[in-house]
Amino acid sequence: MSAVYEVINPANEQSVKKVDLADLAATDAVIEKAAKAFESWKKIAPSDRAKLLRAFAQVVSDHREELAKLEVTNSGHTIGNALWEADNVANVLNYYSAAPERLFGRQIPVANGIDITFKEPLGVVGVIVPWNFPMPIAGWGFAPALAAGNTVVLKPAEYTPLTAVRLGELALKAGIPEGVFNVIVGKGSIVGNRFVTHPKVRKIVFTGSTEVGKGIMAGCADQVKRVTLELGGKSANVIFADSDIEKAAAAAPGAVFDNAGQDCCARSRILVEKSAFDKFMSAFETAVKKFRVEEPSLATAEMGPLISKKQLDAVQAYLNEPVAFTGSAPTGAGYWMAPTVLLPKDTKAKSWNEEIFGPVVSVMTFDDEADAIKKANDTEFGLSGSIWTNNSGKAIRVARAVESGNLSVNSNSSVRYWTPFGGYKQSGLGRELGPDALDSFTEVKNVFIATDN
Ligand code: NAD
Repeated sequence: MSAVYEVINPANEQSVKKVDLADLAATDAVIEKAAKAFESWKKIAPSDRAKLLRAFAQVVSDHREELAKLEVTNSGHTIGNALWEADNVANVLNYYSAAPERLFGRQIPVANGIDITFKEPLGVVGVIVPWNFPMPIAGWGFAPALAAGNTVVLKPAEYTPLTAVRLGELALKAGIPEGVFNVIVGKGSIVGNRFVTHPKVRKIVFTGSTEVGKGIMAGCADQVKRVTLELGGKSANVIFADSDIEKAAAAAPGAVFDNAGQDCCARSRILVEKSAFDKFMSAFETAVKKFRVEEPSLATAEMGPLISKKQLDAVQAYLNEPVAFTGSAPTGAGYWMAPTVLLPKDTKAKSWNEEIFGPVVSVMTFDDEADAIKKANDTEFGLSGSIWTNNSGKAIRVARAVESGNLSVNSNSSVRYWTPFGGYKQSGLGRELGPDALDSFTEVKNVFIATDN
């Protein structure tokens, strides 16, 4: 171990714990351990692997409060969110526990024999996680990877290692064999990069910034390593005049300020039809002022602090456009910031184009359906978005036209563990969750068996 990182509680700047950061040799050792464990894990009977995943899910559920409290302290997540996040890990494990017995191949008609396909595991899968949702994003990678018969090396983000380390311990407690699910804490440039360069890691699941993701994709090219990328976003919340404006406005703060805006799905660009602008802004101001930013362990908290001083400074650098109004936030120790609503002068504004990853939203008007689609698509990203209208034909037309992986109509909900999640354009590559995710953790092997001998 070469270095130590001090975990800080972002709500009060108190030291929580010191963790050792792995060096290159420790990373290589854990990859070798996972590669060795793969030899036996891939041979475990499907029903036994399913049982182990269900046992893991149960142990996570049994520790949901402990995990949630750890996340509140480490990441500043509200306790309500953190409990959902722990439950999400258990739900994703339960969902994919049904997979080992259902990894069907095909039988394809051929002359003089039988042709069958198998879905074979890849080997060691490297999962690299960002700091904004440490538990769910880890689970979206490791649960389908393990279900498909792979072993996993998982690296949490430097800021937020604590729940990942605990999940590693809980896996062992549930009976997952040693070496199958490995959590290793360290720097992206050392541990994460070694996942990319080590030939025994056969696939990378990366969630994080578009910039780092591009480097990982380039690094994987060297070994034609499989890669799934979940990257940044700058999603639009499109509000038509014929929608329930009160409802859209009441829901809009949660759609962007949840997790202090540190959410790749944050609807950080609100597009309102011109004729509804005044009505929307008045209801939106009421909702933003009511949005509770407070000590995250309180059950009433809707938003906690940002993750770090660095993130707070980076977010505040975007506050150079006219401010429509703000909510409130605690003062004193901690990386607190009030939810802020900007009215950018035009679509060239930095705050309109870049992912801010903080509690800042920009509002702009549009003229008609075509203008709404044009403005929604005028971004390099395409992760999520919302469409508010009471005209179902328009809802479908706009949903089909917006270049984004996860859209919701008259709702801001993007994530369900049983439906696919992922981005268009520079928001990513591949899909996580849902039934299709397993395809990216398996190779299709085709076998022809001659019957004419
Ligand atoms: P980041 O890209 O800085 O780091 C993400 C992870 O990659 C961390 O674990 C980090 O240690 C590691 N890393 C850094 N450099 C590396 C390298 N050279 N090689 C290998 N690994 C490396 O991102 P972040 O600041 O932790 O997270 C915020 C970003 O994540 C935002 O852009 C956000 O939009 C994105 N995100 C996307 C999704 C999604 O599903 N699309 C979900 C959550 C977050």
